Amino acid sequence: MFRATAFILLAASLAASAVVSSGAPYHPEDHPAVALFKRQGSGATAPVGSPEWKAKYPQGPIAGTPVPAAWLTAYDNAVKAGKIPQLAPSVMENGNPTYPGMDPMSPEIRSATYQARGDDTIEKWDAPANTVVVSFDDGPIANSSATLYDFLQTNNQSATHFFIGSNILENSDLAMQAFADPNQQIGVHTWTHPYLTSLSDHDVVVELGWTMQIIHDLTGGRVPSAMRPPYGDIDERVRAIAAHVFGKTIYIWNFDTDDWKIGEVEGVTQDGCYQKLIQWYGGAQNPGLMILEHELSQGSVQAFIDSYPTLKQHNWIAKNAGNAYDKPWYLNSVNNTAPVISLDVAAPASSIVPSPTAAAPATPSNATSTKTGATASATHGTTHNGAAGNGVSASFGAIAAFACAAFALL
Ligand SMILES: [Zn+2]
Repeated sequence: MFRATAFILLAASLAASAVVSSGAPYHPEDHPAVALFKRQGSGATAPVGSPEWKAKYPQGPIAGTPVPAAWLTAYDNAVKAGKIPQLAPSVMENGNPTYPGMDPMSPEIRSATYQARGDDTIEKWDAPANTVVVSFDDGPIANSSATLYDFLQTNNQSATHFFIGSNILENSDLAMQAFADPNQQIGVHTWTHPYLTSLSDHDVVVELGWTMQIIHDLTGGRVPSAMRPPYGDIDERVRAIAAHVFGKTIYIWNFDTDDWKIGEVEGVTQDGCYQKLIQWYGGAQNPGLMILEHELSQGSVQAFIDSYPTLKQHNWIAKNAGNAYDKPWYLNSVNNTAPVISLDVAAPASSIVPSPTAAAPATPSNATSTKTGATASATHGTTHNGAAGNGVSASFGAIAAFACAAFALL
């Protein structure tokens, strides 16, 4: 009874703040996670982008950053279920991840850096036939992202943005601009752009979890379903954490513009990237094109913009990743405007909402109402009745524990 009362009070406070925090520190008072929770609580009503709001999230290097208990519980449950391979992190040598004494192409490792592909139910490399998956990594970036977002909106073109969490922290206004366009899917890159395979399990959880958390907090509680690892670096261990702890679908690529090198590496130019794009657009359409592009610079953005008429001339179907594979953009909402089902960041392995084509079209009134935490809280009961998997129940247990902790500390 106490839990229920506490939850109602918490839900009311969250609704007022329009921020659904989901850390669940049910550790002793002296545990680091409790300090983390206090930071989250103190910034809950702070304006987005303010110093108090930024203080809710990791600052600087991420190694050793405390992890909300709900994420650790989800990770522990995945380990106990035998879903996380006991594989040592890769060792970086000359800028490349290596596996001393082991074959990176072996079934135990299947390193994407070495072009080994993961299970195609959770990892995509090729786009469907006749389809270009439009996606951009590393945003949001001042001086280049706004140009891209304006172009996409003007052309009614959908895209997936694999955001870096620390860039969202610095450019939250641009993240909100992208989300405000109902065609733009927000996905997860990582918090600090590391080679994920070189990290401990704990730090992989931190990198993905905090990026999901800040996206969740800025999008009315939406938990992203799409992830792309930096450098395309993923192996069986990191895949398992992404898929079984956080419910991610992983998108690699089958064509690489190298556009991140514009202005960084001699000989790589905006025009060179443009020429690559128009050549691919004029080529075979099966499989389709999953192109690695970045919103890192005016040059990388302009190469895409200049090539866009050629894409249209060749009658490609250009879509974001979610629509291309008919997958909901978020684990708990079909897209940026559909209703949101309240869900913790440590989500079940599969989505609890239908695919985009199975879902009813969103209405403008939905678009308005779901941008508030109030809607996320109000739909709480829907989730509980959904019974889409034990991950949902676990999530709710965590939220209830969070509620108790919050009530005790308020
Ligand atoms: Zn990247």
